[in-house]
Amino acid sequence: MGKKKVHDELLSSILPLARRIAALQKEAAKLGLFMDERELIKCAGCDLVEDVTFDGRLVTYHRGSRSSNDSGLRFKKKWKNIYKCPVCGTKNKIKNLD
Ligand SMILES: [Zn+2]
Repeated sequence: MGKKKVHDELLSSILPLARRIAALQKEAAKLGLFMDERELIKCAGCDLVEDVTFDGRLVTYHRGSRSSNDSGLRFKKKWKNIYKCPVCGTKNKIKNLD
């Protein structure tokens, strides 16, 4: 088998998977599941942090509070990797993992 052929076969087996993943990611987003390839945010200005629950949902809570129930607050994406805190307005820069 030539290199080109190997490449084509790889591509044709990966493409359907890639399409399937893209479709699943859309479904997951609808369900509120956390699928982003990025770090979780810990606000630099206050005690708000993000976490992912056992069932894959993104939540936020205050580090200072004893409970880690979802506060309902969400960091707002301002730019590629800049997320603004809904509590104190700090723009947090985070690492994308992909
Ligand atoms: Zn904050």
